[in-house]
Amino acid sequence: MAQNPLKHIRDHYDVVVIGAGLAGLTAANTLARAGHGVLLLEQHNKLGGLAAWFRRAGGHIFDVSLHGFPVGMIKSCRRYWSREIADSIVQLPNIRFDNPQFSLTTSFTRTDFTRLLTERFQIPPETVEAFFDTARDMNFYDDQSTTTQALFERFFPGREDVVRLLMEPITYANGSTLEDPALTYGIVFSNFMSKGVFTFQGGTDRLIRLMRRELNANGVDVRLLADAQTIHVDRGHVTGVTVNGHRIAARAVLSNANLKGTIFDLVGREHFDPDFVEEADAVRLNNSSTQVYMALKPGEMVDPECGDLLFSSTAPAFRTDMLLSRDITSRTYSFYYPKTRPQGPEPRCLIVSSTNANYDDWAHLPPPEYEEQKRDLAESTLDAVEKYVPNIGHKVDHVEVSTPKTFERYTQHWGGASFGTKFEGLAVSRALPEQIAGLYHAGSVGIIMSGWLGAVNYGVIVANDIDAYLLNNHLPSEEGGAE
Ligand SMILES: Cc1cc2nc3c(=O)[nH]c(=O)nc-3n(C[C@H](O)[C@H](O)[C@H](O)COP(=O)(O)OP(=O)(O)OC[C@H]3O[C@@H](n4cnc5c(N)ncnc54)[C@H](O)[C@@H]3O)c2cc1C
Repeated sequence: MAQNPLKHIRDHYDVVVIGAGLAGLTAANTLARAGHGVLLLEQHNKLGGLAAWFRRAGGHIFDVSLHGFPVGMIKSCRRYWSREIADSIVQLPNIRFDNPQFSLTTSFTRTDFTRLLTERFQIPPETVEAFFDTARDMNFYDDQSTTTQALFERFFPGREDVVRLLMEPITYANGSTLEDPALTYGIVFSNFMSKGVFTFQGGTDRLIRLMRRELNANGVDVRLLADAQTIHVDRGHVTGVTVNGHRIAARAVLSNANLKGTIFDLVGREHFDPDFVEEADAVRLNNSSTQVYMALKPGEMVDPECGDLLFSSTAPAFRTDMLLSRDITSRTYSFYYPKTRPQGPEPRCLIVSSTNANYDDWAHLPPPEYEEQKRDLAESTLDAVEKYVPNIGHKVDHVEVSTPKTFERYTQHWGGASFGTKFEGLAVSRALPEQIAGLYHAGSVGIIMSGWLGAVNYGVIVANDIDAYLLNNHLPSEEGGAE
C-alpha cells in the first residue's frame, strides 16, 4: 500500500511553505537555518517545481529549465545553500545566434557584445557604452512608461538587427516584449549579459539532491504528494493550511504557488480589500512554452561547434508576436554534452528545443488534435535540427514534447506560465502581508524575481521578512524550532 505522505506530521509549525520550486526551497532552507520549525509541502512527487528533470527508458535524463542562468547564482548558492552547490556552477562558453540577419557566436559578456556591436554591427563605441551604462543603471523606481522599443530607438534607431541581437535572448529568458517597460529589459539584460551564461554541472537532478540534503540537515519537514488546498485566515491573520484534507496550524504561510492561484484559489478573494483584489485581477500571467526533448543514441555525439545555447530563427526580422505564434519560426536549442550533463557511464548527448507559446493555443484542443499537434511539433523540430545535427533522424533515440498544459499539470501554474506573472505581479506579491498578517508569497513574478536566480533570491528576501515577523510576533507557548 502507498505510504501516507503526511505520516507523523505535526499539527503545528512556525511556517508552512507551499511549493518546492527554487523560491520555496530556498525560503524553507533559510528559515530553518534561522531556527524556525518549517514544513515544506509539494504537490508533485519531486522537489524543484519548474527546475525539474525526468528520466526515460534507455537511461536518458532531461532537464526542463536548465538552459542558462546569470553568474549571480554562484554567490546566492554559496550563501544560501552550500559551497558544493556553488562550486558546481560553470559557464556555457558558446552562445550562438543563427537567423536571416546574422550568424555569430558569443561568450555573452559585455566585452564580447561590445566587440560585436562595434566591429560587426558598426555601432560607435560611445553609443554601445552609453547603452550598456543606461541598461545597468536602471532600477525599479525608474520611469515605467518608457518602453523597451523606445529605449532601442534612442540608441540604435532603425537597427532591427541590433534589436534582435539584444532582445531575442531576453524574450526567451523571461517572456518580456518590446512593449514592456524598458526597465524590465534593462535589469534582466544587465544581469544576464554582464558575465555570460551559466549552468549546473551534473544536471538538475544533482542540484535538487544536494538541496534536499541541506534541507534534511537543517531540519525542514519535507512532504511530497502534499497538495495544499486552503490557506486559513482568521480576523486578518493566517492561521494555517489544509493539505490533503488535513488541517495544520502555522504562524506564517509562504506560498510558492502561482501568485494568482495563491490569492484566488488558496486564500479566496473575500479575505482581501476590494482595491487589492482589483489590482491582483489585473496582473497578467507570463506566457508559457513548448519544448521538444531529444536524446541521441549512446555514443552519437553533437559537434561542439553547435554551441551550448543556440537562438535560431527563420523569421526575416524580430517580432515578439511571432515568437509566441504556433506557426513556429524561432527555436532556442540547448545542446547538452556529457561533460556538463553526465547521464551514467556512457557518453550521451541531448538536445532540447524551446519555444515561447500561448496557453490558449493548446489548452482547448480536443485530445486527438492535441496529440496530433504534439506529433507535428516533434517532426517539424527534428527537421529544423537537421541543419545543425545532420542525420538527426537516425541518431535520435527518444523524442518527447511538452506543452503549456504539461507545465500547468506539473506545477499548477495558471496558464502553464513559465515565468509566473508580468512585472506588476511583484507589487501584489509584496503587498500580501499588508492584507493578511503572516501571509507571504515568493516565486516568479516578472523582471528580476523570475528565472532560477530570481526565484532563489526572492525566496531569501521573503524568508527574511518572515523571520522578522516571527520574531516580532513571538507566542511563548508555541513549540517552534526544527525537529
Ligand atoms: C520551459 C522552461 C524553461 C526555462 N528555462 C529557464 C532557464 O534556462 N533559466 C532560468 O533561469 N529559468 C528558466 N525557466 C524559469 C525557471 O525555471 C522558473 O522561473 C523558476 O524555476 C521558478 O521557480 P519558483 O520558485 O517561482 O517556482 P516553481 O518552479 O513555479 O514551483 C512552484 C511549486 O509549487 C508547487 N505547488 C503549486 N501549487 C501547490 C499546492 N497547492 N500545494 C503544494 N505545492 C504546490 C508546484 O508543484 C511547484 O513545485 C524556465 C521555465 C520553463 C517553464
